[in-house]
Amino acid sequence: MDNSPVFTIIAPIYNELENLPILYDRIKEVMDKSEQSWELILVDDGSTDGSTNLIRDIAHNDGRIRPVIFARNFGHQIAVTAGLDFSRGRAVVIIDSDLQDPPEVILQLIEKWQEGYEVVYAVRSDREGETFFKKVTASVFYRLIFRITDVKIPLDTGDFRLMDRKVVSVMNTMREHHRFLRGMSAWVGFKQVGVTYKRAARLAGETKYPIKKMMKLALTAITGFSYVPLQIATYMGFISAGISLIAIPVVILMRILGSQQFIGQATTLIAVLFLGGVQLISLGILGEYIGRIYDEVKGRPLYIVSEAPSDNKNSKE
Ligand code: UDP
Ligand code: MG
Repeated sequence: MDNSPVFTIIAPIYNELENLPILYDRIKEVMDKSEQSWELILVDDGSTDGSTNLIRDIAHNDGRIRPVIFARNFGHQIAVTAGLDFSRGRAVVIIDSDLQDPPEVILQLIEKWQEGYEVVYAVRSDREGETFFKKVTASVFYRLIFRITDVKIPLDTGDFRLMDRKVVSVMNTMREHHRFLRGMSAWVGFKQVGVTYKRAARLAGETKYPIKKMMKLALTAITGFSYVPLQIATYMGFISAGISLIAIPVVILMRILGSQQFIGQATTLIAVLFLGGVQLISLGILGEYIGRIYDEVKGRPLYIVSEAPSDNKNSKE
């Protein structure tokens, strides 16, 4: 017997106690308008503010809500991954739980899906209530990623999107530990289209993405989809070698002609510092990649679930 719903909505939750009831109400309202069966997977990513109990309560009262409760905080991308693993719908929607992504937009995503698109991503035309710093860093980040990676990840696009079951099935076979889901969902191909929307301000609470987590995600995106940082070391090597090749004959010539310039330790010191810097940076870049290889080789599970929905048939650990 197939009891799969048509739609799965995935909302990752990390200390969103105040937002949860409104999120639930608005998703319920919107999804009932779709006149199709649906489920909402609430992934509790190690909340400490009581969100966990509220998720249990909501799920207890409404059979369409399926809670996945993590043993600790694993991070946003991993929480969404768990949602994808547990999803059963023919189309799957990922949405933030702070209501920055208006649930009403889901109907527009569904419309495109019904037209035959397999990935429908939501593009932010405007961002309300976010700091200038966040807007600028986000804008630079999307454009940098676009330039240096091989996959063309759509600009100004977050994880808010709809994916067909076909796409989700492929994504679920990609078990990399350092995950940049919007990159992965662009990488798989299929028929993709964007829908623009106005990103609202966070309803309540503070961002769960401080600068440190943003940097981490940016590094994951870059290392996960590009070798450019590794190649930079090579380029720097060629540039340094090139400079010295030109400089050596120039200095010899100047000495022969009796010039007093370049005598002393300063030039030597600068050259040594420059090369030392280049080498250390190159080592650091190598280290980033090696650390990631190490994480993959260990082969640990991506997340640990302490409570999973009992009716699940697709579950992976
Ligand atoms: N989130 C999560 N785990 C984390 C951090 C965030 O599940 O470690 C969730 C959070 O509850 C929210 C979504 O990821 O639903 C996006 O986070 P946030 O709104 O804080 O990021 P921002 O919109 O500020 O970039
Ligand atoms: Mg947010």
